[in-house]
Amino acid sequence: MKLIAAGFVALLTAASVDSVDLQSELDRAAHLNVTAPWEESQQVLDAIEPQMHTATPRQRGQFEFIAARNRALAGDCDAAVSSLQRLRSADSDPDQRLGAYRLSANCALNQGDFEQGFSFLSLGLSLLPEVEASSEKTMILGLATYYHSQAGEPAKALEYAQQAMDLAALDDDQRGLCMALFDLSLAEENAGAIREASVSARSAVESCKAAQDPVYVGASQVQYGELLSELGDHEGARRAVEAGLGSMQEAGYRDGVMRGQLTLAHILVQLGDSSQATQLLRPLVDEFERMEYWRDLRETLILLATLGAEVGDYEQPYHDLLRAEAANDKYLDGDRAMRLSLLQVQFDTLHKEQEIELLRERNRLLEVQEQAQNERRQLVTWGLFILAVIGAFLFMLLLRTRSDRRHLLWLSEHDGLTGLSNHTTFFNRASVTLEECLSQGRPAVLFVADIDHFKRTNDEHGHACGDEVLRHVGVAMVNTFSRSDIVGRVGGEEFAALLPDHTAVEAKGMIAQFHKRLSEEEGASELPPITLSYGLAEASQGQTLEALRQTADEALYVAKRRGRNQIVEAATLTPAQEVSA
Ligand code: GH3
Ligand code: MG
Ligand code: MG
Repeated sequence: MKLIAAGFVALLTAASVDSVDLQSELDRAAHLNVTAPWEESQQVLDAIEPQMHTATPRQRGQFEFIAARNRALAGDCDAAVSSLQRLRSADSDPDQRLGAYRLSANCALNQGDFEQGFSFLSLGLSLLPEVEASSEKTMILGLATYYHSQAGEPAKALEYAQQAMDLAALDDDQRGLCMALFDLSLAEENAGAIREASVSARSAVESCKAAQDPVYVGASQVQYGELLSELGDHEGARRAVEAGLGSMQEAGYRDGVMRGQLTLAHILVQLGDSSQATQLLRPLVDEFERMEYWRDLRETLILLATLGAEVGDYEQPYHDLLRAEAANDKYLDGDRAMRLSLLQVQFDTLHKEQEIELLRERNRLLEVQEQAQNERRQLVTWGLFILAVIGAFLFMLLLRTRSDRRHLLWLSEHDGLTGLSNHTTFFNRASVTLEECLSQGRPAVLFVADIDHFKRTNDEHGHACGDEVLRHVGVAMVNTFSRSDIVGRVGGEEFAALLPDHTAVEAKGMIAQFHKRLSEEEGASELPPITLSYGLAEASQGQTLEALRQTADEALYVAKRRGRNQIVEAATLTPAQEVSA
């Protein structure tokens, strides 16, 4: 009756679909898909199908997902899984992809195709970081919880359940919380924590009611009943399971109803109502066999055989036990396949994790290598820099040493006060030049000059003033004579000059110039008047410097004696004058 009414509503909807917003119809189908028998949402889909060419890719994805789920609910899991292929591909929205993987995994696992099921499941779980829709995440975590729990991995199952719970609680997602609590209860039951499992199942019932999901309300009520029974509350258990069956029947969830009836039969046996239990169980045998639910079939047959034997019937129980054994073999085959598939997936995951770890390790190694290279480069740079600094320092030191050496050399060759060649240097250079001149037949003149009454200058004006007079004379000499002339300070206040390529006459002219300059040079006005006496001698062929000097000295002596401040040329002196000198 309800179905007919729903169909009628759907027909009405179909008639007016053109004027109705496509999105709101899809949302309505999605809502019906989880709250009503699958046919109802399918009718909505059928009604909007002609309009789907105007749909966005996301709307198309939504349509395909609901249609696939309906196929699965109708029992055609193969068709459901293959119709989800497009949605599982990389160009779909991440949350739609995750939904497609979850539904595919659910179908494959339900059908006993564990290898494909666990593979879909792990691919779906790997999408979690990029998905935003929290309900989708909660659901796949729930599925992972359920199957790990079934495959004998209670710790892993509890871990997934807890993740799902946290996620649902964080996003205040009632439906997600309902499923997560339900899965948590199953995982706890499998881990042997019956009381905790019953608490979770009870919370699941409340959350699922709040989420208005009759399938899960029913399933969690049955689960709660089963746990109450295990805890010894058979009456409470019966009430819970009956309530659950009502809810699932209303939702058209046939599988759930069958399994709920099996649970109820166990409870009825506990309550002593064996005949009602047998009545409930008998029709389940063929249905479980048809659906290939081997574990449930085995359980049903064993319970039936036990109940038959209790009333003294052995024929039927015997056949039931034979069928139970066959079902057991099939169940164990499936169970083994599930565990193997899980192991395979875990191995793949582990393998991937190892690969990732290897990659990370390689990255770390590269980083370390790069760092070492940088440090080496830095070290080399510093080394080169230090070498450059040391080099520059040494170079400067070399320059400094060379200039120091030059300075020392200069100091050793010159008079510090006047800057003129000192005695030794003067006579060395003059000697070489004189020799050159004479050997080449060129003329040369030597004169010696002595400051007049210099002692008096010192006495009257002080030694410093005397020094200043000496410096002044030196400057005037350098400025008067050319670079080829050799000038020196050869004694305290005595100077000498060898003038190559000059005659005595020219030399006298140059001395006159010198005198003039001496009185004109800067600072002359501040000094006491300076006069000098000169002895001049022109070199003759073969004459040594020593001899030439002596001649010039004699002329100087004559100049002093004659009253100072004058030039006496040796050649003008008579032998008598020389002797008296
Ligand atoms: P004369 O005209 O006969 O040459 O008389 P003089 O006083 O110049 O000669 P004397 O030989 O009697 O004195 C030379 C003086 O020159 C004695 C010495 O103190 C001074 N004298 C020598 N060297 C330096 C010097 O470097 N600086 C100063 N201030 N005086 C010096
Ligand atoms: Mg003197
Ligand atoms: Mg003197």
